[in-house]
Amino acid sequence: LVRLRARLSRSQNSLGKGLLTLLSREHLDEDTWDEIEETLLVADVGVAPTQELVERLRERVKVLGTRTPDGLRALLREELLALIGTDLDRAVKTESGLDTPGVIMVVGVNGTGKTTTTGKLARVLVADGRSVVLGAADTFRAAAADQLQTWGERVGARTVRGPEGGDPASIAFDAVKEGIAEGADVVLIDTAGRLHTKTGLMDELGKVKRVVEKHGPLDEVLLVLDATTGQNGLVQARVFAEVVDITGIVLTKLDGTAKGGIVVAVQRELGVPVKLVGLGEGADDLAPFEPEAFVDALIG
Ligand code: GDP
Repeated sequence: LVRLRARLSRSQNSLGKGLLTLLSREHLDEDTWDEIEETLLVADVGVAPTQELVERLRERVKVLGTRTPDGLRALLREELLALIGTDLDRAVKTESGLDTPGVIMVVGVNGTGKTTTTGKLARVLVADGRSVVLGAADTFRAAAADQLQTWGERVGARTVRGPEGGDPASIAFDAVKEGIAEGADVVLIDTAGRLHTKTGLMDELGKVKRVVEKHGPLDEVLLVLDATTGQNGLVQARVFAEVVDITGIVLTKLDGTAKGGIVVAVQRELGVPVKLVGLGEGADDLAPFEPEAFVDALIG
């Protein structure tokens, strides 16, 4: 965890440091507030949340009196935490509450880190003593099933796959069937995320969802978003949210960007919490999203 925090802070703390430096200026004039706003926008916080935060900071700085470094840090920490939300349910639901395995569907545009995230999540669950079955329903990207199977072999989870270009829904169906037959605890289904047309995507993901639900409830639909794609990622998120009910967000590649504000923007956009973050390509680089640790990394 310490290592993950270090990795997060390396790329992220320019945002918090920049804000603190600006807030510490002797004269907080309009130009400075403009710079604060710009810093937030550049970090992908999004227009509405940025305006809200600047408003709050203006109010609070006004009544603060002397602006000591510690006072400013505490104030900024509080306001960033309020913006991100500390009381959202960020636990990934892995249990169906029935006799059947918990079923998690992982969706997102290809290249965002969907398959890697599915593999890493399997690793976390297995390390936690849960038995996992993987469903390789990304039949669009040729190497995806192999990649998932490699993860499966590494962590000790069976991978259900079909022929290349096969029907994703039937693979998802078989994976859940296998999970039930084996008495597995969790079934993770990797899906294809080609945004060729919205109806195409809708048909495919909708069908996967429907066949999975023939076995029982779908417990989580995790949307994987690449944090480095900024506004583009938000547009993708919107399309997916129109197609399936997203229950949680996984923000990948946070190690490769200083634009951590996307956490705020995407939660605001979808009304769904960020539950996990990807902090690298390695097997251990998936972590629960903890607002406090994140904000501490931002502020440095
Ligand atoms: P998919 O097409 O969405 O299934 O994407 P992949 O899982 O194949 O991932 C695409 C690339 O992103 C791979 O090279 C991964 O190693 C890399 N990747 C995934 N998650 C992360 C992350 O959190 N940080 C970094 N730096 N790279 C990641």
